[in-house]
Amino acid sequence: MGEVFTGNFTQQEPLPDAALAAAEAVLRHGRLHRYNTADGEVAETALLEEEFAASTGAAYCLAVASGGYALGCALRACGVTPGDAVLTNAFTLAPVPGAIAGVGAVPVLVGVTEALVIDMDDLAAKLGQARVLLLSHMRGHICDMDRLMQLCDAAGVTVIEDCAHTMGAAWNGRPTGRWGRMGCFSTQTYKHINSGEGGLLISDDAEAMARAVLLSGSYMMYGRHRAAPPEEAFADLRYEVPNISGRMDNLRAAILRPQLKGLTRQAGRWNDRYRRLAEGLADLPGVSVPVRPAAEQFVASSFQFLLLDQPAEVIAAVVAGCAARGVELKWFGAAEPVGFTSGYASWRYAPQHALPATDRVLAGLLDMRLPLTFSLDDCAVIARIIRDVVTDVLGRTRGAA
Ligand SMILES: *Cc1c(COP(=O)(O)O)cnc(C)c1O
Repeated sequence: MGEVFTGNFTQQEPLPDAALAAAEAVLRHGRLHRYNTADGEVAETALLEEEFAASTGAAYCLAVASGGYALGCALRACGVTPGDAVLTNAFTLAPVPGAIAGVGAVPVLVGVTEALVIDMDDLAAKLGQARVLLLSHMRGHICDMDRLMQLCDAAGVTVIEDCAHTMGAAWNGRPTGRWGRMGCFSTQTYKHINSGEGGLLISDDAEAMARAVLLSGSYMMYGRHRAAPPEEAFADLRYEVPNISGRMDNLRAAILRPQLKGLTRQAGRWNDRYRRLAEGLADLPGVSVPVRPAAEQFVASSFQFLLLDQPAEVIAAVVAGCAARGVELKWFGAAEPVGFTSGYASWRYAPQHALPATDRVLAGLLDMRLPLTFSLDDCAVIARIIRDVVTDVLGRTRGAA
């Protein structure tokens, strides 16, 4: 059967030694709660917020319990209330429409293109239906943000960005998360920096961020933040914004700070792996790899390719053939949700409308994780296996036809 890959698609790298040392220091002093500080001490959480704000250029940053919490918190902070319609990507992961449902709002799904970004024409047609767009930079693919912001600004639609897959990435030099009113990041294990669970919210909008800080459960301690709006921003809000606790703790912040320092280097390593795979699959008949525009400064942590307009049996045979040789592909066109992957038809709490162009893309979309524990040679092996299997399956299909 040829080469077999034996690497593990879900194994991330161990945390750097500096993170271990920082974690030990927090564990030894025991002040894990972000507002539990000794005299003159600045909490690790407050320092992380300050450093993440600086790294993105945002005025304000809030660390929270998860990426999904950051999304829900941003929706509330931007004034979304139960019953509101919120536009979002049909191609994303379940926590995105889930965050909308979590605030009692109604997801309105917008289609995806073959480049795996939001379909601007579909978006333009639906802008009149909602006041907020929760834009997901799904799998790190960034749409033309200049055009998207023009469309949304003209329609008076507030943009909130889901940057769970774009930490460190930018469009035309401006980081993701800095285009919309708020940007939401995840520090969950499968993302770019790893604290098991965790999230970061950035914004330049003092009122929205003051609301977010209060929502996250700051009690009256917001003065201890270093990347929060000034006290005046809280003066009235503190009586009207409910506490919906979802803070980050000092242990997670402590292990994230050294990882944030290493992010640029890690991003380069991820992209080296992405390019090795893309090279390995270049010019393979039947397969297309999304073209990445020059304006898109992406940070790959996964890889996608398309086998468009093939019957489901062919895709299933490719997935099975690759699995038999150790290469784990996720298929967005599967009828049932599997693992972390689900199609929009599985989110039955969201009103369903036909999205035929999106269905065509998802039906041919294969996806894999690209952990940094893979070497460049591993990526070359994976590409050779996919080439072999695709060539074999498509050859047999043609033979049978
Ligand atoms: C992981 C993820 C989230 C949410 O992050 P959690 O930290 O797991 O809550 C949001 N959007 C996308 C696209 C994700 O992959």
